[in-house]
Amino acid sequence: MSHGSVSPIARRIVAGPAVVFLAAGLAGCGGGTVGMGGGDDGKKPVAAASSSSPSSSSPSSLPSSASAAPRTPQSASPAGPKSSAPAPVDAPSDAPAADGPLRGKVVVVDPGHNIHNAEHSAEINRQVDIGTGSKECDTTGTETNSGYAEATFSLDVAHRLRAILQSRGAKVVLTHDGDRPYGPCVTERAEIGNKAHGDAAISIHADGAEPGQRGFHVILPAKVRGGAADTAPIVEPSKELGARVAGNFVKVTGSAPSNYIGHGTGLDTRGDLGGLNLSTIPKVFIECGNMRDAQDAALLTDGDWREKAAQGIANGITDFLHG
Ligand SMILES: [Zn+2]
Repeated sequence: MSHGSVSPIARRIVAGPAVVFLAAGLAGCGGGTVGMGGGDDGKKPVAAASSSSPSSSSPSSLPSSASAAPRTPQSASPAGPKSSAPAPVDAPSDAPAADGPLRGKVVVVDPGHNIHNAEHSAEINRQVDIGTGSKECDTTGTETNSGYAEATFSLDVAHRLRAILQSRGAKVVLTHDGDRPYGPCVTERAEIGNKAHGDAAISIHADGAEPGQRGFHVILPAKVRGGAADTAPIVEPSKELGARVAGNFVKVTGSAPSNYIGHGTGLDTRGDLGGLNLSTIPKVFIECGNMRDAQDAALLTDGDWREKAAQGIANGITDFLHG
């Protein structure tokens, strides 16, 4: 989710520019990249952007060895409302497997928000330039009604995802590992991926929508240009990446695409997210579920489900990089 849980959800239609993909806001996340107070644009999906439905976009040609890979101890951090301990960036788990279908590939994993952001409101509320405008440096994210933070969720899934991708031979770069006092800012989240020359990037979130609004959706970059932002080169590959992730997420988790955004496709397109606008590598966001819905929250707080979520995301990325 993109903003503090106290922020009301705007519900205006975003009238996007006359480009291939219209910007469409949503409740909540977009995470880390949308402002806490009013920076969150609209909610009405304008154009669900992809011709690929999740159910039709997931070739299942994954090597069995990949999906059978064991998790590292770090990836199996327990569920709970407390923040998991940050892992050192040079932990042994950062090493990719010597071989595997993703050998030579670089995947950038962006755990949305930061559990410490709430303690640094001045820093994270600072406006940063996202090319097409300005946004808060970062946001706190949402939480379940029982207090399980989105930032904790996103970092846990990121660890699990990293372990799977590394087992398939990929080099994985995290934008942060819970080891910073706040942030990073959305601009830096994009920059880290760009400098790593990632072959794919994904930002992990969970939404903070209304109870009864359920399911996941993947956010694709709209075609935008302004200042340092020019998404033209990444729109199409990101669309492909998003479709693969959505399709595999359905398949592995059994979760349905969002019932409140994306018209059942599980896909949305936005032009207001700095993390996407400033990316020069194929990148998507995923909102894994709605933390404010009790049924979704039961899944999001379950470690076994989060492992499935990571598996689905990993399979989507693997399909994309193999395609
Ligand atoms: Zn978020």
